[in-house]
Amino acid sequence: KLHNTILELKGNIRVFCRVRPLLPDDGAAEGVAVSYPTSTESLGRGIDLIQNGQKYPFTFDKVFNSESSQQDVFVEISQLVQSALDGYKVCIFAYGQTGSGKTYTMMGRPEATDQKGLIPRSLEQIFQSSQSLQAQGWKYKMQASMLEIYNETIRDLLSTNRSIGSDPTRTESAVSGKQYTIKHDANGNTYVSDLTVVDVSTITEISSLLRLAAQSRSVGRTQMNEQSSRSHMVFTLRISGTNEGTEQQVQGVLNLIDLAGSERLSKSGATGDRLKETQAINKSLSCLSDVIFALAKKEDHVPFRNSKLTYLLQPCLGGDSKTLMFVNVSPDPSSLGESLCSLRFAARVN
Ligand code: ADP
Ligand code: MG
Repeated sequence: KLHNTILELKGNIRVFCRVRPLLPDDGAAEGVAVSYPTSTESLGRGIDLIQNGQKYPFTFDKVFNSESSQQDVFVEISQLVQSALDGYKVCIFAYGQTGSGKTYTMMGRPEATDQKGLIPRSLEQIFQSSQSLQAQGWKYKMQASMLEIYNETIRDLLSTNRSIGSDPTRTESAVSGKQYTIKHDANGNTYVSDLTVVDVSTITEISSLLRLAAQSRSVGRTQMNEQSSRSHMVFTLRISGTNEGTEQQVQGVLNLIDLAGSERLSKSGATGDRLKETQAINKSLSCLSDVIFALAKKEDHVPFRNSKLTYLLQPCLGGDSKTLMFVNVSPDPSSLGESLCSLRFAARVN
């Protein structure tokens, strides 16, 4: 159901496709699995997958090719990011198999200026805009949090005393007694109990947040290498603005989500704990598509409660909120099957 349904339905969600460059480690067997506009100037909306001479065409709101830079991508989402300052609730997802470029798109390499991803670029833009809006009487308070959902369990990525072991089942809550329960407040917002929330209203605070985030990511690469691709990462920036002149108030939220790898069960040959993980991932990814689909169809019942991810993001999906999904694909011919699944998934939600 998850991977094989293409339904012709247009919701208020936008879908961008991004094809990463071919990397030296890719199998690079014969031929190229995908064809797409080859120069940034001719950036289009179509992408074709080619398998055994058979062409599978897809159309999205935009297709970024292997030559598209981080800046090229950011330019296309900067208005969406900006709308969080105007009080909108925004969700930007990265969906795709492990190794397709989700983390590169979201976080990038923050230490290399031209390779910074959407999270650092969004923070910088929001900070700069909030500074210039001061002249019109606006004062903003911004708070960030960053969490991971692994096997339907929440972990705090900004906790400085985070206890990290090599055993992925040893959750922080088991160590610290923290609960990390998703709560809905009286204003219809969600929050997670015990979660670290950091103020990011100055450039210094932004830099230290990014350092902290990069730290938890680098730990992810070494000790929990596998796990980082098997969990959803949710970065949330809450913005509350007050205009001292007009007494206007705005409450915006920007969520940037690096989803767990979408690869299928059969390929990973999973058993035991691994099987449980894969099932949890499949379940939550299909919940996400069910929710987006139900919202697009304006169904009365939207199954938000079926996964932690959708329950957490409930206020930011639907209504007059704005959603964008990146479907990341690899051009590697050996990834063809997975790429086809990813494009079909994205075509379903688009
Ligand atoms: P994922 O998070 O989906 O598992 P990554 O973002 O870690 O995938 O990307 C896999 C590899 O490909 C990384 O080494 C990353 O730096 C590289 N990569 C991904 N996208 C790009 C891109 N657009 N340009 C250059 N390198 C990329
Ligand atoms: Mg990743």
